Amino acid sequence: MVPIDMPDWLQVTPGGLYLPTADAWIDPARPAARALVTHGHADHARPGHGEVWATPETLAIMAVRHGPGATGRALPPGADIRMGGVRISLHPAGHVLGSAQIRLERDGTVVVVSGDYKRRPDPTCAPFEPVSCDIFVTEATFGLPVFHHPQAEAEIARALARLGTNPDRCLLIGAYALGKAQRVAMLLRAAGHAGPIYCHGALMRLMALYAEQGVALGDIRPAAGVPAAELRGQVVLAPPSALADRWSRRLPDPILAMASGWMRVRARARQRQVEVPLVISDHADWDELTSTIRELRPQQVWVTHGRDDALVHWCGLNQIRARALHLAGRDEEGE
Ligand SMILES: [Zn+2]
Ligand SMILES: [Zn+2]
Repeated sequence: MVPIDMPDWLQVTPGGLYLPTADAWIDPARPAARALVTHGHADHARPGHGEVWATPETLAIMAVRHGPGATGRALPPGADIRMGGVRISLHPAGHVLGSAQIRLERDGTVVVVSGDYKRRPDPTCAPFEPVSCDIFVTEATFGLPVFHHPQAEAEIARALARLGTNPDRCLLIGAYALGKAQRVAMLLRAAGHAGPIYCHGALMRLMALYAEQGVALGDIRPAAGVPAAELRGQVVLAPPSALADRWSRRLPDPILAMASGWMRVRARARQRQVEVPLVISDHADWDELTSTIRELRPQQVWVTHGRDDALVHWCGLNQIRARALHLAGRDEEGE
């Protein structure tokens, strides 16, 4: 194997990765003439681009969130295009509906940009596809050995058990609008919760979009207008921002739960006064990050965002060259 260096056809800038010969940006932080977008979360899919290349699902999510504007160029997973001499294809990332890794190839060098990803089963999206590469560009949201996500099924079972022993209350679960809310709904279904799932209005459009895309969420209803007495013993989903605001005050003595990888950090749960913290993450934990790198055996690892120090150090111990990119504008989407 010939050691590869920095490919000259891929530039790293604080605003994102840039393909100069294609004049294309990957998940650009600012409006760009041409963007390749890994998935629909706000820190990756920003409004205002001229042309957006992404999976059909991501384009649909962006249209719901941003309205019409950018010209969508649908690139189904596996399909191949050539842009400025670079071969480009998308491969499932297992993160949220439509999420994709971007594979780039030129002059015999393969770079895979994971975007956000996870390896745990999730019926709301296609599973992560390992794509062998010379350079693996990874996230590291939970890039510390202390982060080990438990089984999501056990977390949901705990929340339902709490509701079972408190039938006069309702179970209010805070979950982000794209990905988490739908995954929680599917976990509730898998746990046998067949009745209606009531939702805050801010979740309804993406719930409908997932259902249109074939994710069987079951009976999803707006919580608005439902008398408090009817919500006793029921499950209600809301974006985390709604947990503490007036909206939740009309609910019948809610059991406050929150689904996020950050619920592993007790201080964060306490801060939000969460009674039932649910450690459910759509990002890879430490074991998933390191086992994925072991599986792919890339020559280099580039870490886009998150807790990069420990992962870069781990790569060094495993004879893999690694660097932190410190990309701007990536938040943790509350995760
Ligand atoms: Zn994301
Ligand atoms: Zn992200």
